[in-house]
Amino acid sequence: MSKKQILALCAFFSLTLPAKAVKVVFRLDDPTVQYDSVHSRVLQLFAGKGIPLSVATIPCAKEEIPHEINDSSYWQLLNAPTIEIALHGLTHEDINRQGEFGGLSSDETCRRFRKGKHILSQHFDKPINTFIPPFNATNASFPENLESNGLHLLSADMFQRVPRKGDIQYYPETLGHLMKQKGIWNAAKESILKCRGKNAICVVMFHAYDLPDSTAWLQLENLLEACNNNKKVELYTFSSLYDSGEHSDWLRYRANQLSSGLSKYLLHKGVLHPTWLCLAIHIINALAYMLIALVGMLVLLVRTHSISLKRIVYLALVVIGAVIFCIAWFHLLSPLKLLLLAVLINTIPLIYMVVRR
Ligand SMILES: [Zn+2]
Repeated sequence: MSKKQILALCAFFSLTLPAKAVKVVFRLDDPTVQYDSVHSRVLQLFAGKGIPLSVATIPCAKEEIPHEINDSSYWQLLNAPTIEIALHGLTHEDINRQGEFGGLSSDETCRRFRKGKHILSQHFDKPINTFIPPFNATNASFPENLESNGLHLLSADMFQRVPRKGDIQYYPETLGHLMKQKGIWNAAKESILKCRGKNAICVVMFHAYDLPDSTAWLQLENLLEACNNNKKVELYTFSSLYDSGEHSDWLRYRANQLSSGLSKYLLHKGVLHPTWLCLAIHIINALAYMLIALVGMLVLLVRTHSISLKRIVYLALVVIGAVIFCIAWFHLLSPLKLLLLAVLINTIPLIYMVVRR
């Protein structure tokens, strides 16, 4: 087979591979089934462009009084096939400044999940698979209580610690601190365009208060246009993202929470990356610190001819290597402090070699 034929064959097979695209979910928080002019305008905007939207819907007002439908056109907008209805707590109270769920017992958490889902299910025919905790606050009983209530998808934020239990998929809002630094629409546009064509998930959480004036509306419209016109950007709801096969289990969520000196340079913060990429960077980061700390010991090992000293150095390599690796892995010291520690460790074999001379 000639070189040209091999290249043609490679090109043909590359066309059959699935194209990589950043997967984007827009998440509108806080609507109820009652008409609201801003929510209505958002729903019309997304429906007009055929863009999927996950709507974090609050079932009840204070004292658990269910919200009632008061406008059939608004209700029809919520029922559009491109809209996902996600459960957003029961009453959306901020209990003891821990959100609605941060300080609740397992039983009370379960009761609120069950009641909230039951109320929303009475208003909508579509399945409710996704839970979005008010104030993004979770508690340790979430996995089993979500699972027992048929809520397999959870969208909180990047900072929650949830125990590894059950078969829950985690699609946190990803823009986090970037929103505060750049404003939500700039942060979203930058993250999506930077990561287009990458295997990553971007969850854009927004509220009615993020659209206070015509400038903000224009920014949202431009963002939606930019997403719609880019083949390397795919748009989903949480449910359709899961159905597409793009899963995000506990390990992926946790791996994306890990932070290291290297990940700050190599990974964009506004998206959820694949598990293997986060873990690989974290391992390389820990190995790099380990290597820096062990340079002096390795030099000493090569230079010494004493068998007993070689044994001590081997032992030191294992102990120091393991300690530095653990400090880097669990992020027990800041990158700069860890670098300083790794460099300082080298002074021990260095001083020994100078004294022995
Ligand atoms: Zn909310």
